[in-house]
Amino acid sequence: MSTELPRVDVAVVGGGVIGLAAAWRARQRGLEVAVLEREAGLGTGASRAAAGMLAPVAEADLNERDLLLANLESARRWPAFAAELADVTGIDVGYRACGTLLVARDRDEAEHVERERDARERLGLRVERMLGSAARRIEPALAPSLRLAVELPDDHAVEPLRVVAALAEACVRAGVHVRTGVEVNPDLSTIPAERVVIAAGAWSGALGDVPVRPVKGQSLRLRDPSGPGLCDHVLRFEGGYLVPRGDGRYYLGATVEERGFDTAITALGVYELLREASEILPGILELEIEEALTGFRPGTPDNAPVIGVDPRDERIVWATGHYRNGILLCPVTADLVAAALTGEASEHAGLRPDRFATAPQEAATP
Ligand SMILES: Cc1cc2nc3c(=O)[nH]c(=O)nc-3n(C[C@H](O)[C@H](O)[C@H](O)COP(=O)(O)OP(=O)(O)OC[C@H]3O[C@@H](n4cnc5c(N)ncnc54)[C@H](O)[C@@H]3O)c2cc1C
Repeated sequence: MSTELPRVDVAVVGGGVIGLAAAWRARQRGLEVAVLEREAGLGTGASRAAAGMLAPVAEADLNERDLLLANLESARRWPAFAAELADVTGIDVGYRACGTLLVARDRDEAEHVERERDARERLGLRVERMLGSAARRIEPALAPSLRLAVELPDDHAVEPLRVVAALAEACVRAGVHVRTGVEVNPDLSTIPAERVVIAAGAWSGALGDVPVRPVKGQSLRLRDPSGPGLCDHVLRFEGGYLVPRGDGRYYLGATVEERGFDTAITALGVYELLREASEILPGILELEIEEALTGFRPGTPDNAPVIGVDPRDERIVWATGHYRNGILLCPVTADLVAAALTGEASEHAGLRPDRFATAPQEAATP
C-alpha cells in the first residue's frame, strides 16, 4: 500500500464509473475518501469499453424485480446526474436523448421484439410499434428488408469515456484522494481506512466472497468520414447494437463470451458484429474502424449488482456486479453506497451482498 495514502474514512477499491461515482457521493456527505486504482489511469476496465446505453428494461432481466426498479430509477436520474456533473466539472458526458429502435429481420426476431414491447407496455413505458417501412421514414438508412421495429423514445445514451472523465474531475474537485497504480490485495486489513468499498468490477471476486465473474465483450468504435447522418437512434437487434454519438462516431457492440479474462480480439467476433449490423444498416460497411476493444462485464449469478454492507464484515461495502448496466446504474449505485456508508437504510434490499450465501448446514446429530 502506498505510504502516501492518508488515513481516510472510506477507501474505494477500483476507479471505474462505479467506484468514482460512489467516492464522489460519499465525499459530498462529508466523508474523507480515497480511490485506489491499480492501473496507471482511471476507468480503464469495463467502463472504458462500454457502449453507454441507458436501457433499463430487457426481457431477460424482467424476473429480477429489484434490478428492474433500480434500472428504471437510475434512468430517470440520469439527466439530473449529467447536468450536475457538467455544472461541477464543465465536462459534457454526451447524454443524448436520441431514443432507441428495436428492429427485427424475420419472424423469430419479430416475436422477440413484440415480447419486448409487451413488457414495456405492462410497465406503463412509452413504446411505438411500426412496420419496417415506417421505421425507414425515421431512419432512412435502415435495410429495406426489415420486418418490424419498436421505438423506445425514452431509452437514451451517454458516452462512457466522458462519464469517467467527468467523475474523475468531480472527485478531484471535491477533494477525494485519487491514487492510481495502487493494487489492493485480498488482505483488506492493510488499507488505512475505516470502511472499504469494493468497486473492482469483474475483478471483485478476488477481494472477497461474492460470486462475480468476467463476461467478455468485443466491440468496435467506428467513424463516418463524411460526418453524422447515417443514423440517429440507438439501434438494437439480434446479435448487437449500434450507438451513434451524434457527430459521425458510432459504437458497435458487443459479443457476450464466457472466456474468463481473455483479452483477444478475434476475427470471428468482429466479423459477427459487422455481419449482423450490416444486415440492419448496410451503410455501416462504409465506416472507418477507429478501435477494436474488449471489456469484461462484472457478471453475477442473477445478473443483478451487489450493493450494500457485507453482513459478515461491516467494514466492507460492496458495489459491484453491474454486468450490462453499470453505466445506467451509476447514479443509483452511488447514492446507495453513500447511504450504506452513513448508516441509512438501503432502498433495494434485493441487491444485498448475502443473497448468494448458501444456508448453513444443520449440525449433524451426534
Ligand atoms: C462491451 C461492453 C458494453 C457495455 N455496454 C453497456 C451499456 O451500454 N450500458 C451500461 O449501462 N453498461 C454497459 N456495460 C457494462 C458496464 O461497462 C459495467 O457494468 C461498468 O462499467 C462497471 O463499472 P465498474 O466501475 O464496476 O467496473 P470497471 O469499470 O471494470 O472498474 C473496475 C476497476 O477496478 C480496478 N481494480 C480491479 N482490481 C483492483 C485491485 N485489486 N486494486 C485496485 N484496483 C482494482 C480495475 O483496474 C478497474 O479500473 C458494458 C460493458 C461491456 C464490457
